[in-house]
Amino acid sequence: MAWVVSTIRAVVDIPEAFVPRALYVLDFLAAAWGLKVEVTHGPGNVAGAHLVYARLSEGVAVRGAVVIPFDERLYDPHAVCVATVRDGYPVWGHHDVATEGWDLIAATFRLLTLADEQQIDPAARDGLGNFLVGALPAGRAAMVAEPLADNHAALLLEKLLKIAPDLREACVPRWPVGKRYAVCVTHDSDAMHRGHPRELATALTKWLMRRQRVFLDMALEGLKYRHTPMANSSWGFDGWRDDEARHGFRSCFYLAVRPLGCRRRLNDCKSDALVAGIDWSFFQQMRGEGWEFGLHPALDAQRDLDEIVREKSALEERLGAPLTGIRHHYLAIDNYRPWATFRKHLAAGFRYDSSLGWHDRPGFRAGTALPFRPFDPDAAEALDLIELPLAVMDCQVALGSVGTAEAQATLIADKVRQGAGVLVLNWHTETYCNRLLYAGYRTLYERILAPLLADGDAWFATPNEIAGWWRGRAERLRVH
Ligand SMILES: [Zn+2]
Repeated sequence: MAWVVSTIRAVVDIPEAFVPRALYVLDFLAAAWGLKVEVTHGPGNVAGAHLVYARLSEGVAVRGAVVIPFDERLYDPHAVCVATVRDGYPVWGHHDVATEGWDLIAATFRLLTLADEQQIDPAARDGLGNFLVGALPAGRAAMVAEPLADNHAALLLEKLLKIAPDLREACVPRWPVGKRYAVCVTHDSDAMHRGHPRELATALTKWLMRRQRVFLDMALEGLKYRHTPMANSSWGFDGWRDDEARHGFRSCFYLAVRPLGCRRRLNDCKSDALVAGIDWSFFQQMRGEGWEFGLHPALDAQRDLDEIVREKSALEERLGAPLTGIRHHYLAIDNYRPWATFRKHLAAGFRYDSSLGWHDRPGFRAGTALPFRPFDPDAAEALDLIELPLAVMDCQVALGSVGTAEAQATLIADKVRQGAGVLVLNWHTETYCNRLLYAGYRTLYERILAPLLADGDAWFATPNEIAGWWRGRAERLRVH
């Protein structure tokens, strides 16, 4: 069926230096709305425009158009921002402007580019630049569970539809086959083989240092499976596969590998997909049945394109198929210059990344539950990479009680459903056993998943399928 696409006419009349950033956000909004946006630059005739983005003094109205007042200060990463509710939506903006004057384009730009994170005290970051939610500026920390950028898009669309109601019929659906939102199950594989000498040594060291019995139990159990990695209880692949097959969906597994020539760091995975005793025909068969595999690169690999390429090639050789996706171990992208990591992804041949998430809380690190293309400030344009933001993962929920974790995750799932986004979940393969260090993990996952499985509005798809769908949709929305 051919889609009928109508076009939003936008006038952008702001200083030249800010135009690429405004265009980037308008692209994001176009994808969120499912509408084409045709942009005229400069002080053109605003008659007939649906949207005007310009430096206007407060209260100035342009007849028949939605006006967004340009606020240069919001493009400064060090601007102090707060959220407030506007027309029912929590939105992001400069702290000392009346809500009606908020520049929702600049606010969306700073969310998608993680600009507020530049205010984090360097002392609150670890050596990889990673940080906990508590280190964020207070206003941002209070809003980690709110898809603010998606709220901006929804609020603006409501206003546009008021002035041009016909556009409603022209909006391209967000998701295929009549589904209202997407669910994307993924699994990082951090500990493949509990009986591997490095895993045994780590468990025993932790037992001695932390005096927690669970680590001794893990070492003792690992010893039983010293030579049979695919039989040990950290090997969760069979379990996840069988459950997912029963439920009728497929997921993605991000595998760690350390081929020859790659360094090992202290917190890298202790047993990876190249340990002796793993039968690769197992993964090849899963792949043939629709499961996806991606790369889970080593810590610091974000600093070294060659290492990413070597790891990717090692996996592709054994799988016999190209990889399209990546998620970093510890979510350790370059947290100061995320685009530098994304550029390496592109150079290595990846099509999407799924590393943008909070470490210790479920939520929306880029303020969105939608796939989006990251911005490259050096080139002043979007990179040709799809980011699938990670919303909920097991280690976030392990920090509190199961009840608290379930409540937090359910809140996020509800926001994604209401906002028609994609809920990306990450449950490590080794948690399938639901015992020892991972007791309760799968129970929690199943509680979160059950209502989604029962909901006919959810499109369950792998990240590569979702990224592909989003690319195809963006192509249809392109203004030629
Ligand atoms: Zn990991």
